[in-house]
Amino acid sequence: MALKIMILGANGFIGSALTNAILRTRNWEVYGIDLADNKLGDLPQGTGRFHFVEGDITINKEWVEYHVKKCDVVVPLVAIANPAQYVTHPLRVFELDFEANLEIVRHCVKYGKRLIFPSTSEIYGMSPDPILDEETSPLVYGPINKQRWIYAASKQMLDRVIYAYGVRDNLDYTLFRPFNFIGPNLDDVEEPKEGSSRVFTQFLSNVLYKRPIKLVDGGSQKRSFTFIDDAIEALLTILENKDSRATRRIFNIGNPANCVSIRDLAQRTIRIAQEFPVLRENAKATEIIDVTAGDYYGKYYQDIQVRVPAIEAAKRDLGWAPTTDLDTAIRRTIDYYVKQENFGARAAAMSRT
Ligand code: UDP
Repeated sequence: MALKIMILGANGFIGSALTNAILRTRNWEVYGIDLADNKLGDLPQGTGRFHFVEGDITINKEWVEYHVKKCDVVVPLVAIANPAQYVTHPLRVFELDFEANLEIVRHCVKYGKRLIFPSTSEIYGMSPDPILDEETSPLVYGPINKQRWIYAASKQMLDRVIYAYGVRDNLDYTLFRPFNFIGPNLDDVEEPKEGSSRVFTQFLSNVLYKRPIKLVDGGSQKRSFTFIDDAIEALLTILENKDSRATRRIFNIGNPANCVSIRDLAQRTIRIAQEFPVLRENAKATEIIDVTAGDYYGKYYQDIQVRVPAIEAAKRDLGWAPTTDLDTAIRRTIDYYVKQENFGARAAAMSRT
């Protein structure tokens, strides 16, 4: 019998890439729900193995519970995962990321289903460890008036709840922690609203619109950028779970070799964008300027200086390692965006201004 997988948030950045990869490379059935289906246009057609409903998990509760019961594995990928939103809509983050997801976790406990749950690299907060380890690193957050941490705190609480259900009720779960995934469909680069995207799509959007790239507090803070295709390989291996090696485990999914400063990311984005004729003039004209965190995000923000994953657990137990270097990841992502309808026209219009 083919595995039946439920993906909540199938139209999201990770959800759409995972759905696509499953339909292309496995014979599994996917049951998906999301608010829209605009990122699902590239799915292989005619497999008959993708069953999608347009809906909201906080409203279509009966559909959700029924499908948890019906499927073998549940992958809840509905969440706000964007720092700009943690400081502007902290309660929305709590309600969706924590409250709505807790219901799904409880359904998995009730019906004895396997749960593959997204924790986050943000969970380590301002941990003093230079390399962040799933089993040993302390999780360190700022004071309550720094509302940025509501996301990490919500996720931490869910990790702890899931872990406790594993201990008490034998819940079969895997927690995975994404480290700054980048790739096609991350955010909408043509959405010009400042501060609405994660850093890489924000920078690409700035190049497209010839707006200055803003480095928050000097841009010396570092992140380990991970190409989505590498991440999806890890998730497929977790889903397969050969010899139960992923059961009741936590895995960092990240690429420590791609740890660079945000300034470096800005320079690479400008350099690589110039390889694409449609972006060349705009990229040449894009400036890099400095802004304070207070001006950019407001007073509720606090940053993380370095975020490097330990990936020994994933290497050893999943046989997984990332293979895409940062320049390739940037190039492949830009390549995807420039091929989208309207992108060329918009870039051309901008380069004339
Ligand atoms: N950042 C920046 N300029 C921008 C957007 C973000 O300098 O236009 C910085 C931000 O302050 C943070 C880093 O880039 O240090 C990564 O931000 P992102 O929103 O991608 O998520 P995070 O890794 O903090 O969760």
